[in-house]
Amino acid sequence: MEQKLREYAKLLIEVGLGVRKGQTLVLACPVECAFFARMCASAAYDAGAREVVMNWKDDCLAREKYLRASDDVFDTVPEWQKHFYNDYAASDMAYLAISATDPETLRGVEPDRLVRAQRSSAEALDPFYRRQMQNAFPWCIASVPIPSWAKKVFPGLNADDAQAKLWDAIFAAVRISGDGRAVERWQEHLSTLERRRDALNALHFKSLHYTNSLGTDLTIELPETHLWSTGGSVSTTGQRFIANMPTEEIFTAPLKTGVNGTVCASMPLVDNGNIIDGIRFTVRDGRIVDCRADRGEEFLRAAISVDEGASYFGEVALVPYDSPISNQSLLFYNTLFDENASCHLAFGEAYPECIEGGAQMERAQLQEKGLNYSITHVDFMVGTADLSIVGTLYDGREVPVFVNGNFVI
Ligand code: ZN
Ligand code: ZN
Repeated sequence: MEQKLREYAKLLIEVGLGVRKGQTLVLACPVECAFFARMCASAAYDAGAREVVMNWKDDCLAREKYLRASDDVFDTVPEWQKHFYNDYAASDMAYLAISATDPETLRGVEPDRLVRAQRSSAEALDPFYRRQMQNAFPWCIASVPIPSWAKKVFPGLNADDAQAKLWDAIFAAVRISGDGRAVERWQEHLSTLERRRDALNALHFKSLHYTNSLGTDLTIELPETHLWSTGGSVSTTGQRFIANMPTEEIFTAPLKTGVNGTVCASMPLVDNGNIIDGIRFTVRDGRIVDCRADRGEEFLRAAISVDEGASYFGEVALVPYDSPISNQSLLFYNTLFDENASCHLAFGEAYPECIEGGAQMERAQLQEKGLNYSITHVDFMVGTADLSIVGTLYDGREVPVFVNGNFVI
Protein backbone atom coordinates (compact mmCIF):
# COMPACT_ATOMS: atom_id res chain seq x y z
CA MET A 1 0.00 0.00 0.00
CA GLU A 2 2.72 2.44 1.05
CA GLN A 3 4.53 1.73 -2.22
CA LYS A 4 1.42 2.33 -4.32
CA LEU A 5 0.75 5.61 -2.51
CA ARG A 6 4.29 6.83 -3.15
CA GLU A 7 4.00 5.79 -6.78
CA TYR A 8 0.73 7.72 -7.07
CA ALA A 9 2.25 10.86 -5.49
CA LYS A 10 5.23 10.64 -7.85
CA LEU A 11 2.92 10.10 -10.84
CA LEU A 12 0.91 13.23 -9.99
CA ILE A 13 3.99 15.42 -9.52
CA GLU A 14 6.01 14.10 -12.48
CA VAL A 15 3.38 13.19 -15.11
CA GLY A 16 0.30 15.02 -13.82
CA LEU A 17 2.12 18.35 -13.45
CA GLY A 18 5.73 18.01 -14.55
CA VAL A 19 6.79 20.22 -11.62
CA ARG A 20 10.12 21.84 -12.40
CA LYS A 21 12.94 23.23 -10.33
CA GLY A 22 12.17 26.51 -8.62
CA GLN A 23 8.40 26.30 -9.14
CA THR A 24 5.88 26.81 -6.33
CA LEU A 25 3.34 24.02 -5.86
CA VAL A 26 -0.08 25.06 -4.59
CA LEU A 27 -1.69 21.91 -3.23
CA ALA A 28 -5.33 21.49 -2.24
CA CYS A 29 -6.20 18.32 -0.34
CA PRO A 30 -8.93 17.05 2.00
CA VAL A 31 -7.86 17.03 5.66
CA GLU A 32 -8.72 13.31 5.89
CA CYS A 33 -5.85 12.51 3.52
CA ALA A 34 -3.15 14.72 5.05
CA PHE A 35 -0.75 11.76 4.84
CA PHE A 36 -1.13 11.71 1.06
CA ALA A 37 -0.66 15.50 0.77
CA ARG A 38 2.63 15.07 2.65
CA MET A 39 3.74 12.43 0.14
CA CYS A 40 2.89 14.76 -2.75
CA ALA A 41 4.74 17.63 -1.09
CA SER A 42 7.74 15.39 -0.60
CA ALA A 43 7.65 14.27 -4.25
CA ALA A 44 7.42 17.95 -5.30
CA TYR A 45 10.48 18.88 -3.24
CA ASP A 46 12.25 15.87 -4.81
CA ALA A 47 11.47 17.45 -8.19
CA GLY A 48 13.02 20.73 -7.01
CA ALA A 49 9.92 22.69 -5.98
CA ARG A 50 10.67 26.09 -4.44
CA GLU A 51 7.86 25.81 -1.88
CA VAL A 52 4.71 23.74 -1.36
CA VAL A 53 1.76 25.88 -0.24
CA MET A 54 -1.14 23.98 1.34
CA ASN A 55 -4.80 24.75 0.83
CA TRP A 56 -6.66 22.32 3.11
CA LYS A 57 -10.22 21.28 2.26
CA ASP A 58 -12.84 19.94 4.63
CA ASP A 59 -16.06 18.51 3.27
CA CYS A 60 -17.87 18.62 6.65
CA LEU A 61 -17.03 22.28 7.21
CA ALA A 62 -18.11 23.15 3.68
CA ARG A 63 -21.52 21.65 4.44
CA GLU A 64 -21.79 23.52 7.77
CA LYS A 65 -20.98 26.76 5.97
CA TYR A 66 -23.61 26.31 3.26
CA LEU A 67 -26.23 25.40 5.85
CA ARG A 68 -25.39 27.83 8.65
CA ALA A 69 -23.27 30.80 7.57
CA SER A 70 -24.81 34.28 7.20
CA ASP A 71 -26.62 34.76 3.96
CA ASP A 72 -24.37 37.60 2.72
CA VAL A 73 -21.32 35.28 2.84
CA PHE A 74 -22.36 33.74 -0.47
CA ASP A 75 -22.25 37.03 -2.36
CA THR A 76 -18.72 38.03 -1.42
CA VAL A 77 -15.19 36.66 -1.61
CA PRO A 78 -12.69 38.05 0.92
CA GLU A 79 -9.71 39.99 -0.44
CA TRP A 80 -7.16 37.57 0.99
CA GLN A 81 -8.75 34.72 -0.95
CA LYS A 82 -8.66 36.66 -4.20
CA HIS A 83 -4.98 37.38 -3.56
CA PHE A 84 -4.25 33.76 -2.75
CA TYR A 85 -5.57 32.40 -6.06
CA ASN A 86 -4.96 35.33 -8.39
CA ASP A 87 -1.45 36.12 -7.17
CA TYR A 88 -0.23 32.53 -7.31
CA ALA A 89 -1.81 32.13 -10.77
CA ALA A 90 0.27 35.08 -11.96
CA SER A 91 3.47 33.57 -10.52
CA ASP A 92 5.53 30.53 -11.55
CA MET A 93 3.29 27.88 -10.02
CA ALA A 94 1.92 24.39 -10.52
CA TYR A 95 -1.52 23.64 -9.11
CA LEU A 96 -2.55 20.26 -7.76
CA ALA A 97 -6.15 19.89 -6.60
CA ILE A 98 -6.77 16.60 -4.83
CA SER A 99 -10.50 16.57 -4.46
CA ALA A 100 -12.71 14.19 -2.54
CA THR A 101 -16.22 14.76 -1.41
CA ASP A 102 -19.21 12.87 -0.12
CA PRO A 103 -21.49 13.05 -3.17
CA GLU A 104 -24.38 14.11 -0.96
CA THR A 105 -22.49 16.56 1.20
CA LEU A 106 -24.57 19.52 0.01
CA ARG A 107 -27.88 17.72 0.27
CA GLY A 108 -30.55 20.03 1.63
CA VAL A 109 -28.55 23.18 0.92
CA GLU A 110 -30.57 25.90 -0.81
CA PRO A 111 -29.62 25.77 -4.52
CA ASP A 112 -29.69 29.57 -4.52
CA ARG A 113 -26.80 29.72 -2.04
CA LEU A 114 -24.74 27.44 -4.25
CA VAL A 115 -25.46 29.44 -7.39
CA ARG A 116 -24.63 32.76 -5.69
CA ALA A 117 -21.41 31.37 -4.23
CA GLN A 118 -20.44 30.03 -7.65
CA ARG A 119 -21.16 33.40 -9.29
CA SER A 120 -19.22 35.46 -6.77
CA SER A 121 -16.28 33.09 -6.83
CA ALA A 122 -16.24 33.05 -10.66
CA GLU A 123 -16.11 36.84 -10.65
CA ALA A 124 -13.57 37.31 -7.86
CA LEU A 125 -11.22 34.58 -9.06
CA ASP A 126 -11.64 35.37 -12.76
CA PRO A 127 -7.90 36.08 -13.28
CA PHE A 128 -7.09 32.66 -11.78
CA TYR A 129 -9.68 30.78 -13.86
CA ARG A 130 -8.69 32.57 -17.05
CA ARG A 131 -5.04 31.70 -16.63
CA GLN A 132 -6.06 28.14 -15.80
CA MET A 133 -8.23 27.92 -18.95
CA GLN A 134 -5.34 29.31 -21.01
CA ASN A 135 -3.00 26.71 -19.48
CA ALA A 136 -0.76 29.50 -18.23
CA PHE A 137 0.42 27.12 -15.50
CA PRO A 138 0.40 23.32 -15.22
CA TRP A 139 -2.60 22.07 -13.25
CA CYS A 140 -3.95 18.69 -12.32
CA ILE A 141 -7.09 17.46 -10.57
CA ALA A 142 -6.85 14.04 -8.93
CA SER A 143 -8.65 12.26 -6.16
CA VAL A 144 -8.26 10.20 -2.97
CA PRO A 145 -10.90 8.41 -0.89
CA ILE A 146 -12.49 9.95 2.19
CA PRO A 147 -14.65 7.74 4.47
CA SER A 148 -18.03 9.34 3.71
CA TRP A 149 -17.50 9.05 -0.05
CA ALA A 150 -16.15 5.48 0.18
CA LYS A 151 -19.28 4.41 2.09
CA LYS A 152 -21.43 5.83 -0.71
CA VAL A 153 -19.57 3.85 -3.37
CA PHE A 154 -19.52 0.62 -1.28
CA PRO A 155 -22.57 0.89 0.97
CA GLY A 156 -22.40 -2.78 2.05
CA LEU A 157 -18.91 -2.54 3.59
CA ASN A 158 -17.67 -1.15 6.90
CA ALA A 159 -15.79 2.18 6.80
CA ASP A 160 -12.26 0.72 6.68
CA ASP A 161 -13.06 -1.88 4.02
CA ALA A 162 -14.92 0.67 1.91
CA GLN A 163 -11.96 3.04 2.11
CA ALA A 164 -9.53 0.25 1.11
CA LYS A 165 -11.77 -0.82 -1.80
CA LEU A 166 -11.99 2.75 -3.06
CA TRP A 167 -8.21 3.10 -2.95
CA ASP A 168 -7.98 -0.10 -5.05
CA ALA A 169 -10.50 1.25 -7.55
CA ILE A 170 -8.59 4.54 -7.84
CA PHE A 171 -5.24 2.75 -8.26
CA ALA A 172 -6.74 0.62 -11.06
CA ALA A 173 -8.17 3.74 -12.71
CA VAL A 174 -4.80 5.52 -12.64
CA ARG A 175 -2.92 2.40 -13.83
CA ILE A 176 -0.94 1.85 -10.63
CA SER A 177 -0.19 -1.76 -9.79
CA GLY A 178 2.73 -1.29 -7.40
CA ASP A 179 5.39 -2.41 -9.90
CA GLY A 180 6.81 1.08 -10.26
CA ARG A 181 5.89 1.24 -13.98
CA ALA A 182 3.00 3.71 -13.74
CA VAL A 183 4.94 6.60 -15.31
CA GLU A 184 5.85 4.38 -18.29
CA ARG A 185 2.29 3.04 -18.66
CA TRP A 186 0.98 6.60 -18.72
CA GLN A 187 3.35 7.56 -21.49
CA GLU A 188 2.06 4.63 -23.61
CA HIS A 189 -1.55 5.50 -22.81
CA LEU A 190 -1.04 9.16 -23.78
CA SER A 191 0.46 8.19 -27.13
CA THR A 192 -2.59 5.98 -27.94
CA LEU A 193 -4.85 8.94 -27.18
CA GLU A 194 -2.69 11.23 -29.32
CA ARG A 195 -2.84 8.83 -32.28
CA ARG A 196 -6.64 8.86 -32.24
CA ARG A 197 -6.74 12.61 -31.74
CA ASP A 198 -4.59 13.08 -34.85
CA ALA A 199 -6.85 10.75 -36.86
CA LEU A 200 -9.95 12.73 -35.84
CA ASN A 201 -8.29 16.04 -36.67
CA ALA A 202 -7.28 14.72 -40.09
CA LEU A 203 -10.88 13.65 -40.83
CA HIS A 204 -12.17 17.16 -39.94
CA PHE A 205 -15.84 16.27 -39.42
CA LYS A 206 -18.65 18.73 -40.05
CA SER A 207 -20.96 16.97 -37.61
CA LEU A 208 -21.47 13.88 -35.46
CA HIS A 209 -24.66 11.88 -35.09
CA TYR A 210 -25.24 9.96 -31.82
CA THR A 211 -27.81 7.18 -31.42
CA ASN A 212 -28.46 4.44 -28.87
CA SER A 213 -31.25 2.40 -27.31
CA LEU A 214 -31.70 4.84 -24.39
CA GLY A 215 -33.36 7.21 -26.83
CA THR A 216 -30.44 9.45 -27.72
CA ASP A 217 -30.72 10.83 -31.25
CA LEU A 218 -28.54 13.91 -31.38
CA THR A 219 -26.69 15.77 -34.11
CA ILE A 220 -23.73 17.89 -33.05
CA GLU A 221 -22.16 20.31 -35.52
CA LEU A 222 -18.54 21.16 -34.85
CA PRO A 223 -16.97 24.61 -35.36
CA GLU A 224 -15.14 24.83 -38.68
CA THR A 225 -11.79 25.36 -36.96
CA HIS A 226 -12.40 22.81 -34.19
CA LEU A 227 -9.51 20.75 -32.85
CA TRP A 228 -9.68 17.48 -30.95
CA SER A 229 -7.57 17.40 -27.78
CA THR A 230 -6.49 14.80 -25.29
CA GLY A 231 -6.14 15.06 -21.54
CA GLY A 232 -2.42 15.68 -22.05
CA SER A 233 -1.72 19.42 -22.42
CA VAL A 234 1.28 21.71 -22.64
CA SER A 235 1.28 24.89 -20.56
CA THR A 236 2.40 28.21 -22.01
CA THR A 237 5.45 27.69 -19.78
CA GLY A 238 6.27 24.65 -21.92
CA GLN A 239 5.42 21.98 -19.34
CA ARG A 240 3.50 18.83 -20.23
CA PHE A 241 0.69 18.17 -17.77
CA ILE A 242 -2.55 16.21 -17.41
CA ALA A 243 -5.45 18.35 -16.25
CA ASN A 244 -7.51 15.38 -15.06
CA MET A 245 -5.93 12.27 -13.65
CA PRO A 246 -7.18 9.76 -14.77
CA THR A 247 -8.06 10.74 -18.31
CA GLU A 248 -9.37 8.54 -21.10
CA GLU A 249 -11.07 11.14 -23.26
CA ILE A 250 -10.50 12.83 -26.60
CA PHE A 251 -12.59 15.97 -26.71
CA THR A 252 -13.53 19.04 -28.68
CA ALA A 253 -16.17 21.78 -28.55
CA PRO A 254 -19.54 21.72 -30.29
CA LEU A 255 -20.72 24.63 -32.41
CA LYS A 256 -22.76 26.56 -29.81
CA THR A 257 -25.87 26.86 -31.99
CA GLY A 258 -25.41 23.61 -33.94
CA VAL A 259 -26.75 20.93 -31.57
CA ASN A 260 -30.18 19.41 -32.27
CA GLY A 261 -32.21 16.45 -31.04
CA THR A 262 -32.57 14.44 -27.87
CA VAL A 263 -29.86 13.19 -25.55
CA CYS A 264 -30.28 10.86 -22.57
CA ALA A 265 -27.67 10.54 -19.82
CA SER A 266 -26.42 6.99 -19.27
CA MET A 267 -25.30 7.50 -15.66
CA PRO A 268 -26.41 9.69 -12.73
CA LEU A 269 -24.86 13.13 -12.52
CA VAL A 270 -23.53 14.38 -9.20
CA ASP A 271 -23.61 18.17 -9.24
CA ASN A 272 -22.88 20.29 -6.18
CA GLY A 273 -23.53 17.24 -4.02
CA ASN A 274 -26.90 16.46 -5.52
CA ILE A 275 -27.60 13.26 -7.41
CA ILE A 276 -29.49 13.79 -10.64
CA ASP A 277 -30.65 10.63 -12.40
CA GLY A 278 -32.48 9.83 -15.62
CA ILE A 279 -31.55 13.05 -17.44
CA ARG A 280 -33.16 13.75 -20.82
CA PHE A 281 -32.46 16.97 -22.73
CA THR A 282 -34.22 18.25 -25.82
CA VAL A 283 -31.95 20.61 -27.70
CA ARG A 284 -32.82 23.05 -30.48
CA ASP A 285 -30.21 25.19 -32.25
CA GLY A 286 -27.85 24.50 -29.38
CA ARG A 287 -30.15 25.54 -26.56
CA ILE A 288 -31.61 23.08 -24.05
CA VAL A 289 -35.31 23.77 -24.55
CA ASP A 290 -36.57 20.98 -22.33
CA CYS A 291 -34.88 19.19 -19.45
CA ARG A 292 -36.22 16.22 -17.52
CA ALA A 293 -34.81 13.99 -14.78
CA ASP A 294 -36.35 11.10 -12.86
CA ARG A 295 -34.61 12.34 -9.71
CA GLY A 296 -33.22 15.77 -8.79
CA GLU A 297 -34.87 17.63 -11.68
CA GLU A 298 -34.93 20.88 -9.64
CA PHE A 299 -31.12 20.75 -9.27
CA LEU A 300 -30.73 20.10 -12.97
CA ARG A 301 -32.90 23.11 -13.79
CA ALA A 302 -30.83 25.24 -11.38
CA ALA A 303 -27.60 23.99 -12.96
CA ILE A 304 -28.62 24.93 -16.51
CA SER A 305 -29.88 28.34 -15.36
CA VAL A 306 -26.69 29.61 -13.74
CA ASP A 307 -26.26 31.94 -16.71
CA GLU A 308 -27.18 32.12 -20.40
CA GLY A 309 -24.38 29.80 -21.52
CA ALA A 310 -25.31 27.12 -19.00
CA SER A 311 -28.15 25.96 -21.24
CA TYR A 312 -25.79 25.45 -24.22
CA PHE A 313 -23.16 22.75 -24.66
CA GLY A 314 -19.42 23.25 -24.29
CA GLU A 315 -17.79 19.84 -24.71
CA VAL A 316 -18.01 16.69 -26.82
CA ALA A 317 -15.83 13.89 -25.43
CA LEU A 318 -15.18 10.40 -26.77
CA VAL A 319 -14.30 7.59 -24.35
CA PRO A 320 -14.32 3.92 -25.31
CA TYR A 321 -16.76 1.75 -23.36
CA ASP A 322 -13.81 -0.58 -22.86
CA SER A 323 -11.50 1.37 -20.46
CA PRO A 324 -9.91 0.69 -17.03
CA ILE A 325 -12.60 2.76 -15.35
CA SER A 326 -15.55 1.49 -17.36
CA ASN A 327 -14.39 -2.11 -16.89
CA GLN A 328 -14.77 -1.79 -13.12
CA SER A 329 -18.53 -1.25 -13.64
CA LEU A 330 -18.53 1.03 -10.64
CA LEU A 331 -20.35 4.28 -10.14
CA PHE A 332 -17.82 6.50 -8.36
CA TYR A 333 -20.26 9.39 -7.77
CA ASN A 334 -17.34 11.56 -8.83
CA THR A 335 -17.16 13.15 -12.26
CA LEU A 336 -13.39 12.78 -12.45
CA PHE A 337 -13.80 9.01 -12.71
CA ASP A 338 -17.33 8.64 -14.05
CA GLU A 339 -16.75 10.96 -17.02
CA ASN A 340 -13.79 8.81 -18.01
CA ALA A 341 -15.93 5.70 -18.01
CA SER A 342 -18.11 6.98 -20.78
CA CYS A 343 -18.57 9.28 -23.74
CA HIS A 344 -19.81 12.53 -22.31
CA LEU A 345 -21.03 16.00 -23.15
CA ALA A 346 -20.92 19.08 -20.96
CA PHE A 347 -23.25 22.01 -20.67
CA GLY A 348 -21.53 25.32 -20.03
CA GLU A 349 -18.13 26.66 -21.03
CA ALA A 350 -16.11 25.32 -23.95
CA TYR A 351 -12.33 25.01 -23.73
CA PRO A 352 -10.47 27.62 -25.84
CA GLU A 353 -7.92 25.00 -26.95
CA CYS A 354 -10.73 23.27 -28.90
CA ILE A 355 -10.36 25.65 -31.85
CA GLU A 356 -7.33 26.75 -33.82
CA GLY A 357 -5.52 29.57 -32.04
CA GLY A 358 -8.16 29.56 -29.31
CA ALA A 359 -5.71 29.73 -26.41
CA GLN A 360 -4.61 33.20 -27.60
CA MET A 361 -8.13 34.55 -28.21
CA GLU A 362 -10.20 36.84 -26.04
CA ARG A 363 -13.63 35.69 -24.94
CA ALA A 364 -15.52 37.73 -27.56
CA GLN A 365 -13.45 36.20 -30.35
CA LEU A 366 -14.03 32.67 -29.05
CA GLN A 367 -17.76 33.30 -29.04
CA GLU A 368 -17.57 34.61 -32.60
CA LYS A 369 -15.94 31.33 -33.63
CA GLY A 370 -18.91 29.46 -32.19
CA LEU A 371 -17.68 28.49 -28.71
CA ASN A 372 -19.99 28.71 -25.75
CA TYR A 373 -19.10 30.80 -22.71
CA SER A 374 -20.46 30.24 -19.21
CA ILE A 375 -19.20 30.37 -15.64
CA THR A 376 -20.15 26.71 -15.36
CA HIS A 377 -19.02 23.47 -17.01
CA VAL A 378 -20.86 20.29 -16.05
CA ASP A 379 -20.13 16.92 -17.66
CA PHE A 380 -22.82 14.29 -18.06
CA MET A 381 -22.36 10.77 -19.36
CA VAL A 382 -23.99 9.57 -22.56
CA GLY A 383 -21.94 6.49 -23.54
CA THR A 384 -23.53 3.03 -23.56
CA ALA A 385 -22.52 -0.42 -24.79
CA ASP A 386 -24.63 0.18 -27.90
CA LEU A 387 -23.73 3.80 -28.63
CA SER A 388 -23.19 4.56 -32.30
CA ILE A 389 -21.52 7.74 -33.52
CA VAL A 390 -21.34 8.51 -37.21
CA GLY A 391 -19.34 11.47 -38.47
CA THR A 392 -20.27 13.49 -41.55
CA LEU A 393 -17.47 15.04 -43.60
CA TYR A 394 -17.69 18.36 -45.46
CA ASP A 395 -18.24 16.47 -48.75
CA GLY A 396 -21.23 14.66 -47.22
CA ARG A 397 -19.56 11.27 -46.81
CA GLU A 398 -20.31 9.41 -43.56
CA VAL A 399 -17.62 7.72 -41.44
CA PRO A 400 -18.38 5.50 -38.43
CA VAL A 401 -16.51 6.74 -35.34
CA PHE A 402 -18.07 4.53 -32.63
CA VAL A 403 -19.77 1.17 -33.09
CA ASN A 404 -21.19 -0.61 -30.04
CA GLY A 405 -19.64 1.85 -27.62
CA ASN A 406 -16.06 1.65 -28.88
CA PHE A 407 -13.80 3.46 -31.34
CA VAL A 408 -13.61 2.09 -34.86
CA ILE A 409 -11.00 4.57 -36.04
ZN1 ZN B 1 -14.37 15.77 -20.62
ZN1 ZN C 1 -15.73 18.40 -19.10
